[in-house]
Amino acid sequence: SKRTSRRTARRDGRKRVTTVAQGLFQAIGRVSRSEARLLLATTIRKPKEFLIAHPEYSLTDEEVSLFDSYLQRAQAGEPIPYIVGTQEFWGRPFHVTPATLIPRPDTETLIEEALAFLQNLEAPRILDLGTGSGCIAVTIALDCPKTQVWACDKSKDALNVAKGNAEAFGAKVTFVESNWFSAFADEKFDLIVSNPPYIEENDEHLKALRFEPISALTSGPDGLDDIRILAADAPKHLREHGSIIVEHGYNQGELVAAIFRSTGFASVRTVRDLGDNPRLCCAML
Ligand code: GLN
Repeated sequence: SKRTSRRTARRDGRKRVTTVAQGLFQAIGRVSRSEARLLLATTIRKPKEFLIAHPEYSLTDEEVSLFDSYLQRAQAGEPIPYIVGTQEFWGRPFHVTPATLIPRPDTETLIEEALAFLQNLEAPRILDLGTGSGCIAVTIALDCPKTQVWACDKSKDALNVAKGNAEAFGAKVTFVESNWFSAFADEKFDLIVSNPPYIEENDEHLKALRFEPISALTSGPDGLDDIRILAADAPKHLREHGSIIVEHGYNQGELVAAIFRSTGFASVRTVRDLGDNPRLCCAML
């Protein structure tokens, strides 16, 4: 058994060694294989590929206990991106902290729609409301450099994370502390984008999201209070032919479209995500 061999090792005066391969083996049944690789790579500060090429690499004692603490946090339900500090979005590793929502692949559908809308405009002004990690604003600034991008959040901590991401990727984004449009007075944009909170107050899924900021996830009994604010205030912040694209829940397509129709948008369209769920409301004045 392991205990005997360790005892033997000590008697022999040899140092106990944990290799990359053994570390990954110890993680079996505690986290998935890909999670184990991410956590171990983070532990030894090497890229994931290193683990495959160097199964015999030995961990220091500190690394062994750090890795174990990561495994314990993951087993307690903490999302892996918070443990390792990054989540990939649109092919880039975004830094995340518990002050920010973890970017989701669903939101990449919003990026596609936004980039398609911006294609035909010359020097569009765009605003990302509730930028969180900054994943939307930074991605658009990088992939559509002709845009002038503003991004806001009411959370200072989130804004600092977003600023860090913009800096890390060399994206030009103007960050503003603002509760939705509060800091934007009479300013107008060609495109407003947002992945606001939208989950229903007593949705079962909220339990699984308990490590993420609650104000980023839900707002009011049906989750849509903030979307109602955005729909009401967006018209006065849009230029002629301006558009707003807002993410929503898989079962909220009709509800959210109705909200935007009721606040004066002439054309309202629902877009599905890669899982074929209604995911975005695109509204034009
Ligand atoms: N805009 C960020 C994202 O899409 C944060 C969204 C949020 O906190 N609701 O991940």
